[in-house]
Amino acid sequence: MTDGMNEFERLAGGHIQALGVDIMQVNLGLRCNQSCTHCHVQAGPERTELMDEATMALVLGAAQALRPRLVDITGGAPELCPVLRPLLDGLFHAGLAAQVRTNLTALFEPGQEDMFEFYRARKVGLVASLPCYLEENVRAMRGSGVYERSVAALRRLNELGYGQAGRGDDALTIDLVYNPGGAFLPPGQCALEADYRRELLARHGLVFNRLLTIANMPLGRFGEGLRRSGQEAGYRELLRQSFNPATLDGLMCRRQINVGYDGALYDCDFNMVLGLRVNHAAPGHIRDFDADLLRGRLVMTGPHCLACTAGGGSSCGGELVAVQPTAE
Ligand code: SF4
Ligand code: SF4
Repeated sequence: MTDGMNEFERLAGGHIQALGVDIMQVNLGLRCNQSCTHCHVQAGPERTELMDEATMALVLGAAQALRPRLVDITGGAPELCPVLRPLLDGLFHAGLAAQVRTNLTALFEPGQEDMFEFYRARKVGLVASLPCYLEENVRAMRGSGVYERSVAALRRLNELGYGQAGRGDDALTIDLVYNPGGAFLPPGQCALEADYRRELLARHGLVFNRLLTIANMPLGRFGEGLRRSGQEAGYRELLRQSFNPATLDGLMCRRQINVGYDGALYDCDFNMVLGLRVNHAAPGHIRDFDADLLRGRLVMTGPHCLACTAGGGSSCGGELVAVQPTAE
């Protein structure tokens, strides 16, 4: 490499620069009650990595100083980390919008009986993974019983007012997340959302706000599965061939910062998995948080970034540009 750029940057036409810090994403740790086949952080019941109270307090302080548009909490299963509740309390009392990425089934784990009400009382937005509206596909990716418990959790959330129309200040939002069940790209988000809406209503009487489609990263457990099945090279080639320059402006790393469970700062959760901290010119730990230095930092990219720019693009907020349905 002679131009100092990696393969992704050469396709992108240069380095990627951040444009602000509108979203603070916080990873509370890798413990999860599930062990999904597509999990990029390889979360599971045996993982012990969790954010501690001192780090959570630093996160809260940084969020209060930064006042991001959204604090987006992820894991693992955030509910299984003891600092989730004090963090949400602190954000709520500071008047900051918070969202939790839940797998739904963690809401039925011991000690979580009041979590539905806890979320509602603090107006926490929810993003729930449900990789298909069909039970057999969810079972293959997430294990038996997951679909039934996910439906039960969605029903309870609907009863509490989640998922009804509107996204105003008082709306209780629940968005669903689709991941492909193999080495292929997600279909267009808009058309798939219509399918989810129709099928979940007809089969279970369930409603939700938006569907987010997210491409699988060739990392973690999904990456291992690709290697085991001899599909890694093919999947990476698919990402390369599907590069779409129209996705570059919307890349989530350009407007967010990710805080790992140990307080280290990353451009995104995928870089956290790879141990790629924010550019050395910006502070690398929450204790040194400096929004001004982070806002215009150069993003740390690599070949994995091609999963964010393939087809309609992919981010924690779903597709980046609309994919038109192909004519039959
Ligand atoms: S994908 Fe989500 S629910 Fe599944 S193991 Fe990973 S963190 Fe847990
Ligand atoms: S993987 Fe992370 S750093 Fe790379 S393009 Fe996607 S969001 Fe940005």
